[in-house]
Amino acid sequence: MIAFRPDDCLILVADDLAQNLQVLGSLLDSAGYATTFATSGTQAIERAKTARPDLILLDLMMPGIDGLQTCAALKQEPQTCKIPIIFITASHDKDRVLDAFELGAVDYVTKPFESKELLARVKTHLELKRAKDELERALAEVERLAITDPLTGLFNRRYLYAIGEQEFERTCRYGAPFCVLMLDLDRFKTINDTYGHAVGDEVLRSTARCLRQTLRQSDVVGRFGGEEFLAILPSTPLAQAVTVAQRLRKAITRYSFSSCDRVTASFGVATYRPGDRSFESTVKRADDALYQAKREGRDRVCTCGDCAAILSFPPPIIAVENS
Ligand code: GH3
Ligand code: MG
Ligand code: MG
Repeated sequence: MIAFRPDDCLILVADDLAQNLQVLGSLLDSAGYATTFATSGTQAIERAKTARPDLILLDLMMPGIDGLQTCAALKQEPQTCKIPIIFITASHDKDRVLDAFELGAVDYVTKPFESKELLARVKTHLELKRAKDELERALAEVERLAITDPLTGLFNRRYLYAIGEQEFERTCRYGAPFCVLMLDLDRFKTINDTYGHAVGDEVLRSTARCLRQTLRQSDVVGRFGGEEFLAILPSTPLAQAVTVAQRLRKAITRYSFSSCDRVTASFGVATYRPGDRSFESTVKRADDALYQAKREGRDRVCTCGDCAAILSFPPPIIAVENS
């Protein structure tokens, strides 16, 4: 954790009395904080949005919209809702302090305040906020890592299944079936054996790049395992998915892999079928079709035979293509 430095922190002080602003301003300034000021609730809301302070010292009693209303408005705005707010209250305002906490304030100080106490509270809440931000960032990173394949940066199998199950539910409810496209690099073991494992890894990374560049934003692509990849094409008829697979197959064939010869891949394509029990059912048919593509000579796209049979619109699909 980086050491706490007051001059990294901007504090917005909102008070209708210029004298209060001056006192608080010079106190914060003497402790090394950067400051910005507002003389009304409305101005405080605007300033908070533009200046994005790290903390707000907010006077409870202000003409126009008061501190509580200002706090409520700040907590409603996505840009300002996470900024810690410390209320400055007069001693007779004590009853309203509870309202302030309920609205999301983190603390309060009573006027006339003790300088040291005020600075201690400011520092504590700035440090707490920073620790919270760091924790949120770390959590987001953990979540990202949990769904990412480390070698290629594509989604991993676990995430593919999570998205696949969602697609399955969506299709069951609303129709517009999804397709699954599975591909496996041909004779990849030979690439490893000929050029070494590092080149094999580079081929996997390049294949991932090629897939990302060739597929649409709405498609979800991931590494299924080893040299096998899987793409989920939402709301896509089988005929269109076969066209996409052919485009990918050609793209991989033409892709210039920096450190080895021509790479090819075999594809299995399947669509959701009414009666499927889960996403896995569609994956299983795509896998069967992929094995058919391998058996029939590799570098081609196959759909499992019965999938081709359920197509009800032109153009007719040839179950095995190698053009
Ligand atoms: P086919 O055309 O039948 O698919 O043949 P293949 O050689 O591609 O298939 P096989 O299953 O025999 O070999 C797959 C190879 O992929 C073996 C394995 O060591 C390699 N492999 C799996 N994961 C990785 C990886 O992360 N990096 C590298 N470099 N190789 C990997
Ligand atoms: Mg292979
Ligand atoms: Mg394989």
